[in-house]
Amino acid sequence: MAEMSETEQKRQLVRCMRMLERQGIIDYNGHASARAGANRMLINTGSCQRSQLSVDDICTIDFDGNLIQGNAKPPLEFHLHAAIYKARQDIDAVIHAHPNWSTILTTAGVEYLPVYAQGSLIYPLPVLDSPDSINNLAMAARLVASLGDRPAALMKAHGAVTTGKSIVDAFVLITYMEDNAQRQYMAQAIGKPYAFTDDERALCREKLWNDSLFQRTWDHFSAKLDAMDAKAAIG
Ligand SMILES: [Zn+2]
Repeated sequence: MAEMSETEQKRQLVRCMRMLERQGIIDYNGHASARAGANRMLINTGSCQRSQLSVDDICTIDFDGNLIQGNAKPPLEFHLHAAIYKARQDIDAVIHAHPNWSTILTTAGVEYLPVYAQGSLIYPLPVLDSPDSINNLAMAARLVASLGDRPAALMKAHGAVTTGKSIVDAFVLITYMEDNAQRQYMAQAIGKPYAFTDDERALCREKLWNDSLFQRTWDHFSAKLDAMDAKAAIG
């Protein structure tokens, strides 16, 4: 991500948020960030309109939440992003949202199962055992401890977090997670969901976890967003 300019990073964050909003993964809440040098990140402002996002809605803050550049304050849960960046040097992008299907599982106390290939990539998926907002250092530390060395986590009766080396990674993983959770819910409604075995998951990881396939997933949703925008423009 170092080679990408900050303007490009902002554009990518905007695109990511808008794609998540169109899919219903974020609504009036939810935030995505990207590491931007030492002790700095780019993140959407707390008050922004997620469906109409522009680069002006992305602010630059330090890991204490101080505004370095931008029109409005970061979300109250910026602590979640800051704590992950401080603890995990391997992570350069973070998404936090309250997606319905994934969150319903933890609300019901049901374990996330790897029920389809893409959704198995983040399994096992740790769960933060608290519904409290990550709006302070103590809760952020608990979330980081739950996440451990994993790429994603659920937060009980609250939401989900995904991470990555890039915004594309974090976007793709939350998309897979939510899709898997919906499939699991539906399978559970009519029977016992089939959970992939360790060997099957290892094969999925080998075949499906690579930059070109992740980019293809991003491009799929990106093209869809363009098509929807074009339709809206025609009226
Ligand atoms: Zn939240």
